[in-house]
Amino acid sequence: MKSPGRAAREPQVMTRSMDEDRITGWLGARTPGGSRVLVGIGDDAAVLRPSREHTVVTTDMLVEGVDFRRDWTTPRALGRKAVAVNMSDLAAMGARPLFFTVALALPPDIPFRWVRELHRGLIDPASARGAHLVGGDLSRSEAGGVISITAIGESIGRRVIRRSGGRAGDLLYVTGTLGRSAAGLALLRAGRLRGRTAAEREALRAHHLPEARCAEGVYLAIHGFARAMMDLSDGLSTDLPRLCAASGVDAEIDPGLVPLFPAARRWGCDPLALALDGGEDYELLFAVPKARAPRLEKIWPPRLAPITRIGRLVAGSGKVWLAKDGSRRPLPRGGYDHFLSSVRPPTAPSVP
Ligand SMILES: [Mg+2]
Repeated sequence: MKSPGRAAREPQVMTRSMDEDRITGWLGARTPGGSRVLVGIGDDAAVLRPSREHTVVTTDMLVEGVDFRRDWTTPRALGRKAVAVNMSDLAAMGARPLFFTVALALPPDIPFRWVRELHRGLIDPASARGAHLVGGDLSRSEAGGVISITAIGESIGRRVIRRSGGRAGDLLYVTGTLGRSAAGLALLRAGRLRGRTAAEREALRAHHLPEARCAEGVYLAIHGFARAMMDLSDGLSTDLPRLCAASGVDAEIDPGLVPLFPAARRWGCDPLALALDGGEDYELLFAVPKARAPRLEKIWPPRLAPITRIGRLVAGSGKVWLAKDGSRRPLPRGGYDHFLSSVRPPTAPSVP
């Protein structure tokens, strides 16, 4: 990789002697295009071949000190995560990823190799899920770094799955496991940057490299099983009320059914609390008409992330209940809220 010629052409420090043309030229030459990308990085704007489907657009931003810490992750993992959280929002609509752009604001002391690694993460096929990087912007930040991605996808058969389609009687499902990312965050906050056991490594990986459930979202859209869907970015106890409010229903969750990450108990966490309040799982939460549920469970492909029924929608107006053995109590909203809560505080705790 390190030929003297390449090293000589590479800017050494990002923005101190910032030569934006040189950096975008360098990145553009190393960003693969696709058959729908008529003009990619390097002109004033990208030119994309339209699709016959509906276009689905989302933006998600990662802010240093709030959403990530540079000393807790690698630039490559950060690039992959920044893309994955956007692909997760497309998956949550049942849309297929096509393109994305990235806007970066970076402190002047960031070395160019950090940007190079971030870019490698951004175009990593495992996170980009077939989407092409088609443009972006680069600026200097006097505080921390900011990575803002806008992703564009297409619907399946001109249908999208909104949060508002749920009806009383629908069964609620989630993909994967809940609370694993928050278990990883708990390790980071305790100063454990590298896992010592397989479970610790799994939790840290879930936090650093979440996997967007694109194939699962598209499968649900193709087969028409889900009539309401969203992704779990802020925790079930925060996200599910959003789906309930949009659908005009309440939800009842059976805590005994929620797919947990029990290993978190080994480092002092309550797996159920992590699953309900933790956030950043990027799993899908969806409502399925009761009559369709047996078929869904029967034909769900084993190659996809497993799905688990966790409860149901009932008549109401946006509240969530923990229900067990015929009694129920309200589930307080404990997930991450950028303006209210402290799961990911702006000044994260230092290593003990
Ligand atoms: Mg979302």
